[in-house]
Amino acid sequence: MYPNDDMHYSSETAIPMHDIIRRDPGLWSLFTREEEYSPELLDEFGRFPYYMSRDRNVFQPRVSEFLIENGCSMEFPGGHPFALCLTHDIDHVFTPILKKGLSAWRSLKRGEIREAVGSVSQVRSRKRPLCNFNDIMDLEEKYGGKSTFFFMVESPGDRAYSYDIEDVAEEIGEIVERGWEVGLHGGFTTHLDEQELRVKKERLERITSCSVQGYRNHYLCFKVPDTWEMLARAGFMYDSTLSYGDCAGFRNGMCHPFIPFNLNSGRSIGVIEIPLILMDGVLDSTHMRLDRATSWRLIRMLIDSVARVHGVFTVVWHNTLMRGEDLGMYRKILDYCKEKDALITSCSEIATIGPPEIR
Ligand SMILES: [Zn+2]
Repeated sequence: MYPNDDMHYSSETAIPMHDIIRRDPGLWSLFTREEEYSPELLDEFGRFPYYMSRDRNVFQPRVSEFLIENGCSMEFPGGHPFALCLTHDIDHVFTPILKKGLSAWRSLKRGEIREAVGSVSQVRSRKRPLCNFNDIMDLEEKYGGKSTFFFMVESPGDRAYSYDIEDVAEEIGEIVERGWEVGLHGGFTTHLDEQELRVKKERLERITSCSVQGYRNHYLCFKVPDTWEMLARAGFMYDSTLSYGDCAGFRNGMCHPFIPFNLNSGRSIGVIEIPLILMDGVLDSTHMRLDRATSWRLIRMLIDSVARVHGVFTVVWHNTLMRGEDLGMYRKILDYCKEKDALITSCSEIATIGPPEIR
């Protein structure tokens, strides 16, 4: 399931893809995220927001298109024309008692006795998982796919703390046993703190009993290029954080996995980035303010753009949004990509396939 150490890229490895992109200085600047090296403004979570970017073309994977036009090709096992990479950030695993109490009271008020009884039993059992990971895997299995679950390893007092990873050891064991992937979901400061990153990786590996290769930061907090360098030094094979917290699309014009480049050191970085294209929550009333129909139109447009260049449409769907209309949207993505014959898989498989190659 996990590639071995010689799959790791070294910063000494020549990256032909970089030479191709360099031919167009504008695209090289976009690809390396040059404007993020000295940002004028970051948001309250320390993120570089899309509204600060000079790039106004975030819905077009321009760097990936340039690579394909200039002799790069991407091939997937089984001859699939493109890939859908499924991920879940696990910010919460237990139902907050207060919220469940409220929901039991509301159900009773509506006369929904069965729901109310269910909610009450959840109030009594503090450790009841909010979401059944097996349900998610069962759904993805129907499409012949699998996914990556990014778990948080926070401690009481941490800003993002909502569960102890040791309390979901059994569930994580099942995920690993079924062949799905478990990655690390860093907290609000992990992307800036190598020691914290290493400690969390080790604590998660004690639960998974295997090497943790993948990373995504909470709230998509990320510092270019420092976070990539830290991840490489800490022994991660890939990251999948690169996406805007306030807008879907292609933050550096890429929809293929790639080796990042550090403009300060003038060297490539020994880690693979699998750029995230769509986060479930970004479409809603707080960020992009899209209604359901327009959200779906945008998602289809993004998937079509990725499919045209044989790229990877990476999506994060939180376990907390696996119900109602949100679950409906997730199914629509799976249906649409299946119809277009996508390879449906986890980040670790995409990382193993690696970046596009020169034909
Ligand atoms: Zn998160």
